Amino acid sequence: SAHLGVLGGGQLAQMLALAALPLGVRVTVLEPDAQAPARLCADHILAPYTDSAGLDALAACDAVTLEFENVPVAALDALHGRVPVRPGAGLLERSKHRAREKQALSAAGARTAPFVVIEDTAALQGALRAVGGHGILKTSELGYDGKGQRRVSSDHDLGTAWDELGGVPCVLEGLVSFEREVSLGVARTPDGRVAFGPLVENVHRDGILRTSVFPADVPGGVEDAAREQARAVADAWGLEGLMTLEFFQLQGGTLLVNEVAPRVHNSGHLTQDGGGISQFGAQVRAVLGWPVTDWRPLHPCAMVNVVGVAGPDGTPLEPDWAGIDALEGTRVHLYHKDWRAGRKLGHVNLVAPDAAILRARLASLEALIP
Ligand code: ATP
Ligand code: MG
Ligand code: MG
Repeated sequence: SAHLGVLGGGQLAQMLALAALPLGVRVTVLEPDAQAPARLCADHILAPYTDSAGLDALAACDAVTLEFENVPVAALDALHGRVPVRPGAGLLERSKHRAREKQALSAAGARTAPFVVIEDTAALQGALRAVGGHGILKTSELGYDGKGQRRVSSDHDLGTAWDELGGVPCVLEGLVSFEREVSLGVARTPDGRVAFGPLVENVHRDGILRTSVFPADVPGGVEDAAREQARAVADAWGLEGLMTLEFFQLQGGTLLVNEVAPRVHNSGHLTQDGGGISQFGAQVRAVLGWPVTDWRPLHPCAMVNVVGVAGPDGTPLEPDWAGIDALEGTRVHLYHKDWRAGRKLGHVNLVAPDAAILRARLASLEALIP
């Protein structure tokens, strides 16, 4: 039986381990938090990512992957040459740094929003005008769930935003007026064969993903265009394993790449219950270097994230679990995390016989989740 190592033991590792087990694959996670979600369903090495005994255990696996992009470079260096790490260090270097990522996307022929790299106050001069007068300043490193970003509409805003973000290296992006956001997973084997996940439509709230829906309600040709861009980036970046692209779809169907996650993605969780292979099953196969087929769901499906929301008095607002159970086609996935405002605690998937019924039930489901 095969053995997969994972740097990080959060909910993505939990769901990876759950998908690996029936494929005859064991999962070992290296994770410094004793309460991390994957602790209950994978072998858990409780140690820092740079712990040498922990890294030795990962090096003894058939392949290693990661569930977040900010693993210490020292950990990757320690594994280099001992075990395949997929995706590899070169791809991570790009995807964890917005400025490098945007430049590497352009080099691969993918379209992005207009952007200016900001590394010092001198670069602020004229930057907003260059991206169209309205923009989003984003830190180049460590941002997620909309953290580390500020919307700006004047040079004064831009100066304030730069200070508020700490004067660290940033990217200023032009504000895109998109029709919808979509995402797409792509897997690539070491010998260059690719497979795709579904094109999924995403709605964010307060910078955090709220709902994902499959199929995305896009103009004809958009899914093929997304696949083409994903294939181009995967080839140019030498992807091994699985990654996910986030896009803005403009009126008329043009796609701009927003960012790339070097892994499975929150928007792909609906594949767990759509009747096909899940993104986690695809990830297991791709990372081990096995053949991968497309993992498009067989049925219309959707996902709603369960995020910690506080009531007016600061206490947790609970989803209506009984109502969720009573709604046909729902499946609950929880991450075994303590409640905290703004924290992703789980998600509810929904499957339906057709797209119209799905959209109707999704509205009911959303009303049950704060
Ligand atoms: P994630 O959790 O997806 O990693 P993140 O913190 O890296 O989030 P982004 O994906 O860059 O942030 O942005 C979060 C959301 O903010 C986007 O999904 C989109 O809704 C909005 N957004 C980001 N950039 C732009 C832009 N240039 N124009 C318009 N909206 C944007
Ligand atoms: Mg991001
Ligand atoms: Mg994003």
